[in-house]
Amino acid sequence: MKVNMLTCPLCNKEVAEFHKRSHILPEWMYTEIYDKNHKAIEVSKLKKKVTKRQKGYYGQFICKSCEIESQKYDHYASLILTNRSPNNPEHKLISKEHFEYQDDGGQNEYEEWKNIDFKKLQGFVLVCILRTQLAGQMKGLTLNQKHFKKLLALYHSDSMDDLSYPIVIIKNPDNDKFRNQLIIPYIKKQRGHHIIEFAGTGFIFNIYVSSHNKQDYVNSLRLKNDGSMLLIIISFKQTGLFWNTQRIVKAAKKVSKGI
Ligand SMILES: [Zn+2]
Repeated sequence: MKVNMLTCPLCNKEVAEFHKRSHILPEWMYTEIYDKNHKAIEVSKLKKKVTKRQKGYYGQFICKSCEIESQKYDHYASLILTNRSPNNPEHKLISKEHFEYQDDGGQNEYEEWKNIDFKKLQGFVLVCILRTQLAGQMKGLTLNQKHFKKLLALYHSDSMDDLSYPIVIIKNPDNDKFRNQLIIPYIKKQRGHHIIEFAGTGFIFNIYVSSHNKQDYVNSLRLKNDGSMLLIIISFKQTGLFWNTQRIVKAAKKVSKGI
């Protein structure tokens, strides 16, 4: 009997079945934010609802070998973005320098990180976006096919291209009580740029998808192919994300008695 073959949308190979439980964001991003009932609260911008989930968004949408490959990037990100494996060589390799400066707006802080494995961190950010798109969970504006195909090609390529889709990562301060908000990737428009944004474990990830010239600050902050990046430190409350999230959580709480 002939088995119906499936085409994996990530690698385009024919497979008999997909991996059974692919997370759109890795599970370690959820475990950081479990509340006392061991459930993560998620906010969906578009549907204006808040849901509690135990194990996050997952589904069957990529093949097993794509799942194994993507987990390598998820694992690398957990090593460098959290302190859960302080003795791991990849964790220890990252150098982080803290800077403060004063301007009209007050006291500002940022960090410079070096020795990042550029391809692995880029792979993590890209695969979070690709999985969200493939699972049909991308919120906000639409990611068009042209950009989707280019992001997919970049994910599979060995190129050290850090300019076509620059990645900017914002860090929330360690004492920020909102730092563990989890935001599933969505597309927004800001100052004429289309940006895919997601957040979790004290970091906000911004990927610029516009074809036109990026602004200077994007070029100076972005993750560079020499393994460095600058992370502006902003409390979650100071970001537009906070105000949107608060508004939606308030509205949803009125509707849903479950929270
Ligand atoms: Zn595949």
